Formats: sequence, structure tokens, C-alpha cells
Amino acid sequence: MKYISTRGQAPELTFEEAMLTGLARDGGLYVPAEIPTLSRDEIAALSGLSYEETAFRVMKPFLGDCFTDEEFRGIIERAYAGFNHAARAPLKQLAPNHFLLELFHGPTLAFKDFAMQLIGQLFQVALQRRNDRVTIAGATSGDTGSAAMEAFRGLSNVDVFILYPHGRVSEVQRRQMTTPADQNVHALALEGDFDDCQARVKDMFNDFEFRDGVKLAGVNSINIARVLAQVVYYFSSAVSLGAPEREVSFTVPTGNFGDIFAGYVAKQMGLPIKDLVVATNQNDILHRCLEGQGYHKGDTVPSISPSMDIQVSSNFERALYFAYDKDTSAVAQLMDELKSGGFEVSQGAMQALSETYKSGRASEEETLATIKSELAASGELLCPHGAVAVKVAAEQRAADVPMITLATAHPAKFPAAVEKASGQYPDLPDRMADLYEREERLSRIDNDLAAIEDHIRKNIA
Ligand SMILES: *Cc1c(COP(=O)(O)O)cnc(C)c1O
Repeated sequence: MKYISTRGQAPELTFEEAMLTGLARDGGLYVPAEIPTLSRDEIAALSGLSYEETAFRVMKPFLGDCFTDEEFRGIIERAYAGFNHAARAPLKQLAPNHFLLELFHGPTLAFKDFAMQLIGQLFQVALQRRNDRVTIAGATSGDTGSAAMEAFRGLSNVDVFILYPHGRVSEVQRRQMTTPADQNVHALALEGDFDDCQARVKDMFNDFEFRDGVKLAGVNSINIARVLAQVVYYFSSAVSLGAPEREVSFTVPTGNFGDIFAGYVAKQMGLPIKDLVVATNQNDILHRCLEGQGYHKGDTVPSISPSMDIQVSSNFERALYFAYDKDTSAVAQLMDELKSGGFEVSQGAMQALSETYKSGRASEEETLATIKSELAASGELLCPHGAVAVKVAAEQRAADVPMITLATAHPAKFPAAVEKASGQYPDLPDRMADLYEREERLSRIDNDLAAIEDHIRKNIA
């Protein structure tokens, strides 16, 4: 199993190399050269299995011979042992044929834990075997950073530096990044927005002297291992609703396009998915693009669903790669045009995108109204990201196909918005009830590449 760059100018890598590398050296993203498939019988056989066994069977074909079966089973066991729910990703029913996939029972209460906990264990095994160490740099709109720090803290072969937009993450998100005591994890509060954070991380990867000097590795949602970890819950939830005999659809609150792209991979692997619905908040660049209006950057407007406040949706490049029929030079050109503001999607690629994805948006008012109405209708207290998706799912779902809406965070991560909408203050689960008392540790930093690189060089072990 080989991994190639969406821009076609970087070396082909194994799964392990692609995972440790993150961003390809040509600026592209790694994708499997061929997406493996599971037969109908293999999918049917997933019924009734544990989440861990499902993860093993769904991900194994992507790994080549990088990890032995025994190593990989151990990695999966350790990754999900810290989750607070026996099903890991339980399904709840909201309405006839509408289901909520709860992805927030991990250690930082957001779906990012599914991929990050796994990647932490994968890195540890790979680096120990290679007797190597790396510096992980990542940008976060809130949830990736805390999930990464939680997954890597205390690991001896890794330092982690997370850039987050100062003042633009929720208090719970910030505290989850600033309170781990382990000395190998570092929170950097950048003067800028999330797109600035993401751009500076990309700059670090394109500064090869720095990149090689500190052995930079990336675990942002562009990391292919993260995308593949997220494929698993598409299978586990669809199978529990009757796949492969029955088709299902998914609605996904979308920012960087990693989660919904995992749904595309599941579909290519053979899972009978009818619709994949991209749900955006008022930062609706993806929705507009999928409606045929081209991809044109504007200003990010802060919202109550901050993990979706985005203009540059990194993993969309992977969707474009497949929509352009793996034409790497076409993708490279689009990404070049994006630097100066945006691009139009060709007619053929637009056709391919609209066969795969539907989309919708929710305004701030609609998001708040959905939190309130869903609490009344089903008793479910949604976080704002899940509420965006529930609103869009209600518009897009077909009566005869089960819709699975992804609930990507626990409402207690966004208590102010949830309380404003519903009148109910969502409490943190008991195991993190003391979060507000723990001591914080962070560094303020300018939106300046040299300053960031200097800080990292001085603080690696
Ligand atoms: C990251 C995140 C999203 C967006 O997921 P992408 O894979 O970036 O599209 C949605 N909701 C929450 C709570 C998140 O943390």
C-alpha cells in the first residue's frame, strides 16, 4: 500500500512514513494510491463486533506491513481504553430514521480523540522501533490541540507545540490545552485567527531547514492516519443500522473537511452510503463551493461553533484530487490560485463533487434555535457544532434512508452558547470537574514565522 501526494511532486511513502511526515514536501496531502475495499460479506461480518475489532478490520488494509497484527491490536486497545463509553461511538435516536452518532466520549470530549488517541499510540510504537524522536507542530481552532496534547503528553519521543488563535477558543478548550502538566506539550497563543495558525504551521513545513532540523511532524487533520481512523465509525454506525443490507446517509459538521472526507473513503471502500451532507455554519465557503459558486476566500467570522470557523479547508484538497480524477497538476494549480484568493471548479469536477456531497448551512440564530428545539423534541442537549448538523440534516434527509448526524463535541465544551440557547448549563463530566481549578501554562506569540520557530527550537527537549 503506497501513499502519494495530491500534488504529485513528493516521494511515494508507506503508511508509517506518510503518518510521520504529515504534509507532503510538495505542499500536497498524502492519499492512498488505491482505496482498498471490503466485500459485502466482510462488512456484514462487522455486525456485533466491538469498536476495537471493527477498527482493526477497517484500518488494517491501509497499513501494508507497517505494523504486525499483534502490534496494531495493542495500539487500538490502548487508544480507546480512556473513553468513557463501552460502545466508544454510541448511536442515539432523535426522531424516526434520524440518529445521532455521539463522538464525544473521549478524554477531551470531542471527536478528534478518535483519531488523535490512535495516532499517539501509532507514533509511539513507530518511533520507539526507529529509536527516533520528532517535534509535532499543529494549528487548532480548539479541539485538535487539546486532543493532540492529551494523546501525546508524557510520551518520551515527542515534543508537541500547538498554535491556537488567542481569545478565539472556548475556555474549556483553552484550559484543556494549558493545564496538562507534562513538560513535552506546549500551548502557543497566537495573535491571529485560526487560518493564521494553520498558515504558520504550513510555513514551518515548507521551511525545510527548520523542518529537518527539529524533525517536524504534523498531526493536523491533514495527517492521513487521522482521516483513516475516522473511517471506522462510519462503518460501526452504518452496520448497526443494517448496512450493508440497508443504505444510510450522514450529515457532518464540517470545517477542515477531514471528518466528511473519511465518510467518502468509507463509501469508496464499499459501505453503502447514499448521501454525505456537509454542514457549515455562517462561514459557509464549502457550502457555496458545493453549490457551484467556486471556492473564494473571505474573512472568517467568529461563531458559536468555532471549530468550523474556516476559510481554508485543508482536506478539501483531497476531495478535489478525487473529483479531478487524480489529476495532480490540476490540484497543484488550484492550490496555487487559492493563495491569491480562490478558484473555480471545472464542470467535470463539479459534477463529481455533487454526486458525492450535498451541503447546507446554519446561521447563528438557527443553531441556537436547534439546540432549544432538539432538547424539547428528544431530550438531547446538543453542542453548537452538532446543532448546525442537525439543522442541515433535517432539511436534507430522505424519509426512507436513515440519517446519521455526527455529534462532534460534548455540550459542556461550549457552555455559554448552550446555556444561552436552552437555559440549561451543561456540566462537565465528573472526571474533569476540576478543570477550572488547574493551573494554566501558555506562551503568547506574534503571528511571525521566525518568532515561532525560535520559540520551538528553544523549548524542545
Ligand atoms: C474539528 C471539529 C469539527 C470539524 O471537523 P473537520 O474534520 O475539520 O471538518 C466539527 N466539530 C467539532 C466539535 C470539531 O472539533
